[in-house]
Amino acid sequence: MPDLKQKALAILKKFYGYDTFHPLQYQVIEHVMKGNDALAIMPTGGGKSLCYQIPALLNKGCAIVVSPLLALMKDQVDALISNGIPAAAINSMQSEAQNRTVIDNVYAQNVKLLYISPERLLEDMNKWSNDLNISLIAIDEAHCISHWGHDFRPEYSQLSVVKDRFPGVPVLALTATADRLTRIDIKEQLNIPDAKLFIKSLDRPNISLNVLRGLSGKQKLSRIVDFIEQHHGQSGIIYCLSRKSTETLAHNLRVLGINAQAFHAGMSTAEKLRIQKDFINDDLPIICATIAFGMGIDKSNIRWIIHSNMPKNIESYYQEIGRAGRDGLKADALMFYSFGDVKTLMSFAHDSGQSMVNIEKLNRMQQFAEATVCRRRMLLSYFNERYDHDCCNCDVCNNPPDRFDGTQLCQMAMSAMVRTDQTVGFMTLIDILRGSRKSEIISNGYDRIKTYGVGRDLTTSMWNAYLLQMLQLGLIYIAYEDNDHLKITAFGHEVLYGKTQVMLSRFYYDNKKSTKTESKQKRIVYVEDGVDPDLFELLRDTRSAIAKATGVPPYVVFSDKVLMVMAGEKPKTKAQFGTMYGVAEIKTEKYWRQFTSVIVDYLAQKAQKR
Ligand code: ADP
Ligand code: ZN
Repeated sequence: MPDLKQKALAILKKFYGYDTFHPLQYQVIEHVMKGNDALAIMPTGGGKSLCYQIPALLNKGCAIVVSPLLALMKDQVDALISNGIPAAAINSMQSEAQNRTVIDNVYAQNVKLLYISPERLLEDMNKWSNDLNISLIAIDEAHCISHWGHDFRPEYSQLSVVKDRFPGVPVLALTATADRLTRIDIKEQLNIPDAKLFIKSLDRPNISLNVLRGLSGKQKLSRIVDFIEQHHGQSGIIYCLSRKSTETLAHNLRVLGINAQAFHAGMSTAEKLRIQKDFINDDLPIICATIAFGMGIDKSNIRWIIHSNMPKNIESYYQEIGRAGRDGLKADALMFYSFGDVKTLMSFAHDSGQSMVNIEKLNRMQQFAEATVCRRRMLLSYFNERYDHDCCNCDVCNNPPDRFDGTQLCQMAMSAMVRTDQTVGFMTLIDILRGSRKSEIISNGYDRIKTYGVGRDLTTSMWNAYLLQMLQLGLIYIAYEDNDHLKITAFGHEVLYGKTQVMLSRFYYDNKKSTKTESKQKRIVYVEDGVDPDLFELLRDTRSAIAKATGVPPYVVFSDKVLMVMAGEKPKTKAQFGTMYGVAEIKTEKYWRQFTSVIVDYLAQKAQKR
């Protein structure tokens, strides 16, 4: 099909303003255009939507998109319409009259993409006549079909009948993550045994990966505040372990003049919707959330993710950081991790139904937190992906840890444990090592043991970090059945008696060696080389104004990436504006005046100042 590619590229330019396909996009398009089934696994931001939207536009008739995320449907449809693509949705959030109008429009061949919930498709499809002319069936979030996936939805498990109802119509299943078993399940349950598999690397190279260890609550708050200041005006999510801590953190930030709100499952639906809407519309930059937040939003300009505590496994971590930087521009992920996190998560894992699996997953998460090699390498190898170089976009690559002989330090800690008959927990141990005068220490006579105060040269944070490493290295363990007291393992005894040496990674308060003051001053403004940050800000304001006036989220008007390109290329005419990256034909008509006049005025003012 030699001219299929030409046609596909023409549509890509006209409706999206892009000149080239991302890797695998065209292969998937070509495959389904030949009438074949496919399963496409691409990371968030990888461009899955185009894989079914372009065939929908190339074909006669209407493509059906099955999606479990009702809240997202409206956004997706709005975004398509704003690019001039006739799309519509049928779901329970609309009135039946509205749904009927939509289906009439599909019969009248006025809809190219129809978004529908799985339960609704199953209910309605037998009533539809063949005049409906379905060109393609896309199953979004296809992992929801599998018990093996992390997000099983019962309404997905009956979709196998769809293939019987529409024989000959290609089915395209899409998801961001599906391990081997989930893939098998998806093919089986959708009744598409011959579906070709398209897998794109899970890597999200634009997200920087950073971990800070062992900080106290107060130090953590201060680091979060620094981080937010450096990311001034950018949207971000802070994930917390509990509902309570989302509220406390949001409150503490507001007291410091930072606009942040909590979001968790215990809040009313109305309140949650309001907060979500403010976030999407760039009216609220920061959300402190439990894991419940993020699944239902499509916001492409989330610039950073903070994990206030370590997540319970790498799958959750990866999914959560993946919500940042969907527009492909630089984004940052920062995770805090302390002994307290490990203790809490470990006891959750112990009490969970599947303690073996969950403890193993938690251990892998902790290994990631303690990484002394490139973090991205660790992540991708966890997902069985080959990645054979250092990424240069994680804290380990940028500041390789200093390794030192930590044998003596470990011996200090373990000898204090021996002298208290291994009957103390983590905080008490640190108090003994640092020679604390707390009443609990004195009343138990811990101030009279030989190791009392031997570790006073190290701060509490340092001990926190080193004890974490000892835990990870298998020198000590937490005895959950015995009041969370710390115990020494056989390997720990070898070290204690000097039979084995251990290397530790040196602790730095901010994981950076000498850049502390520098990092404090430097505000990270996300502009690329040659882009004027002031102009970028002005264009953002223009975008906000348009979004407010037209009732769509700012990123639906233009993504951050398009504004960045605009601030770099500074188009002054309609023709220049129209050929720019990411500007669909219909958007040229609608917006060229507003944006080019901002640019022209700005340049004139700048020229005057000279
Ligand atoms: P996914 O559904 O896989 O998370 P999307 O389909 O939402 O990803 O695409 C992510 C972003 O990348 C969107 O802003 C989209 O417009 C953009 N995009 C997709 N394909 C291309 C392309 N070929 N060129 C440039 N940008 C693209
Ligand atoms: Zn790296």
